[in-house]
Amino acid sequence: MIRVITVQIDSKYTYHLLTPSIHPFATASPQDTGLPVTSPHPILIAGGGIGGLATALVLARDGHAVTVLEQASSFGEIGAGIQLGPNIFKMFAWLGLTDVVSKVSFFPPGLGMNDVRTGEKVVRVPLGDVSRATYGFPYGVIYRADLHQVFLDACRELPNITLRTDARLESFEQTADSVRVRLANGETLPGVALIGADGLWSKVREAVVGDGKPRVSGHIAYRAVLKREDVPTHLWSDDVLLWGGEKTHLVHYPLRRGELFNLVAVFHSSKYDEGWNTFGDTAELTERFRDACPQVRELLGKIDTWKMWVLCDREPVKNWTDRRVTLLGDAAHPMLQYLAQGAGQAIEDAVVLREALRVARGDVPLAFQKYQQARYLRTGRVQLTARFYGDIYHAAGVQRELRNQLFQSGQESAGFAGLKWMYDGIEPSKLFQ
Ligand SMILES: Cc1cc2nc3c(=O)[nH]c(=O)nc-3n(C[C@H](O)[C@H](O)[C@H](O)COP(=O)(O)OP(=O)(O)OC[C@H]3O[C@@H](n4cnc5c(N)ncnc54)[C@H](O)[C@@H]3O)c2cc1C
Repeated sequence: MIRVITVQIDSKYTYHLLTPSIHPFATASPQDTGLPVTSPHPILIAGGGIGGLATALVLARDGHAVTVLEQASSFGEIGAGIQLGPNIFKMFAWLGLTDVVSKVSFFPPGLGMNDVRTGEKVVRVPLGDVSRATYGFPYGVIYRADLHQVFLDACRELPNITLRTDARLESFEQTADSVRVRLANGETLPGVALIGADGLWSKVREAVVGDGKPRVSGHIAYRAVLKREDVPTHLWSDDVLLWGGEKTHLVHYPLRRGELFNLVAVFHSSKYDEGWNTFGDTAELTERFRDACPQVRELLGKIDTWKMWVLCDREPVKNWTDRRVTLLGDAAHPMLQYLAQGAGQAIEDAVVLREALRVARGDVPLAFQKYQQARYLRTGRVQLTARFYGDIYHAAGVQRELRNQLFQSGQESAGFAGLKWMYDGIEPSKLFQ
């Protein structure tokens, strides 16, 4: 049972507190939490993806009134898998969501890379207990829609979150103490702040950063999900397995407790410059993987229909905040998927934003600056390192030989160790000390 308690601390700040049963951090006193709501208006969040919902959840748990504006006619996610590194499970622990996420996740025993042409093993990093021992948290994979549902269910439990669909942000303006959002249907909404969690093609970013269209990487992802019974045993792998080749790779792993099998095939192409979730051209895919080993070609042959993504990112920036307006997730720092971190970084953003609002004690512009300051180098590093990993996966010639030699000569976990800065994650309570 969730209750909202409103406490008037002084003439300026009103504190809305939730009962402690909701999350481990709700036990602090009003003075400790410092949850000022200096406006009768809610915090507006544009975008109800994983980043937007995670943010709504953490802010509402702190007592803020939050309205999520989602342009689609329903809340949901496309059916595809995402990987969740230990830094993301650290956030689930912090959020008290570990059990509910784990119930719908799969925990692969290893992370492997094979050569797509020869089929040879390049490297395999054990996960499971090794991930727990090294980082304190597991490495999992999850159906994207299941993760989104976890956040949606948690948001629906909180009375101070309003979830709106068919609510496309068109523009916004701000004054010294408020924002006003205009929706595509002409409606206007007041808010105390605006968080643009509206993804790669963010409208909010257009106004705040104004750096044009995202950078088209020239890489395209084809994705498909098979049922377990449709994958022959000799093609199944419990590992997250990546088959790297010249300008191509295929990655696959089980999903949803092992009931599904997720495949993503990536190749370089100049054919498309825009596109998301459209149907892929199977003939082109087959052509790109014509030199692949028989196992990979057989696996690709199991799929009749692929969905396609044109992969984009942006240069890292550190000006994604303008007074009462800030960005979060892909809107702030879109990255290529080669480190499997986009959604995870969005969740970290949400947690940091919550901490910043607490320490700034009601000063929204100050909080948003603190949040940006705490995030831009880490997220920028992931953005740039992800590009580099794309090159490693798609290496050819001497680069490929060198990659294989380096990976094979080191310890099994050497490849993983290079990403310790990322997988170690963040310490929310120490961020603003
Ligand atoms: C092929 C591929 C594989 C990936 N694999 C991984 C992985 O393994 N692990 C991982 O962590 N990440 C992965 N990612 C990245 C991850 O998908 C994204 O980083 C993450 O979904 C970003 O979440 P978000 O909430 O910021 O944005 P989005 O998920 O894009 O959500 C934005 C939301 O805003 C809405 N919206 C847009 N404009 C407006 C508007 N004007 N008004 C109102 N609403 C609006 C959209 O409808 C959408 O619901 C992958 C991405 C790709 C392409």
